[in-house]
Amino acid sequence: MPQIIDGKAISAAIKDELKKEVADKNISAVLAVIQVGCDPASTVYVGSKKKACAYIGIGSESFELPEETTEEELIALVDRLNADDKINGILVQLPLPSHIDEKKIINRISPLKDVDGFHPWSVGNLCIGQEGFVSCTPAGIIELLKRSNIEIEGKECVVIGRSNIVGKPMALLLLAENGTVTICHSRTKGLKEICRRADILVAAVGKPKMVTREYVKEGATVIDVGIHRMDDGKLCGDVDFDDVSPVAGAITPVPGGVGPMTIAMLMVNCVKAASRKEN
Ligand code: NDP
Repeated sequence: MPQIIDGKAISAAIKDELKKEVADKNISAVLAVIQVGCDPASTVYVGSKKKACAYIGIGSESFELPEETTEEELIALVDRLNADDKINGILVQLPLPSHIDEKKIINRISPLKDVDGFHPWSVGNLCIGQEGFVSCTPAGIIELLKRSNIEIEGKECVVIGRSNIVGKPMALLLLAENGTVTICHSRTKGLKEICRRADILVAAVGKPKMVTREYVKEGATVIDVGIHRMDDGKLCGDVDFDDVSPVAGAITPVPGGVGPMTIAMLMVNCVKAASRKEN
């Protein structure tokens, strides 16, 4: 049986460490959470983020705006929060309604308060190895690997997916840890063969159970970023867990793998934002 990488336990440990840090150092931080419209999934995510803030002992301020909010109104709110010294981090829950340009909004958030790590400054810093906010899901995967004692240095790492929020930053982080990195996408030829070279395979493809054992080298670490609700109501990932488990050396389950890490790393970024301000 492979090592099952327990994201739930690791994220709980990170949140406990942060809770202690916030109390010990008397850190005061406030995260502004903006939601436009009432997409049910977004409402659940926003609720979990606010709950995590309360758990580690930082404040959160909610801005629940109606679906018909204009781009100008949202920009005005972001500007106001950028200028507000009491607010350390700003999170705009995505997706935004189609009449609002997401890029414009992300670019408007002050890079000093960009706790999602999506601003071009944050991405640029990551690219050149400078200190800055890192996109939470890929940062969480690095923590999962490190805390599970899975070495990255010198390893063949293959990332399936090249999105701005998962695939690309994932590849950059693995590179920063001295992995040898290949990025695959929908135009990649010979995908299975490339994936079978991987010591560490990260699937961020958005296709339920696409990665079967034919993609996996014996003993490889398999990280499943995908999250899908199946017809029977159960969750599954981009990896066919039952098929891959017998050949993998280590694997993340869905749920309970990568998912819980995203919020834990958001909390890391919030504490970082507050500490930066105090420096
Ligand atoms: P995107 O849809 O933005 O990106 C998917 C990527 O997969 C694209 O780069 C695409 O290639 C590539 N791709 C699609 N089909 C294939 C294929 N058949 N073969 C090879 N590559 C393919 O998704 P995200 O990166 O935002 O998310 C990926 C998954 O992770 C989703 O299931 C999402 O729900 C989940 N997710 C989970 C999070 C968590 O906290 N657990 C957080 C964020 C996302 P191309 O660029 O060529 O189109």
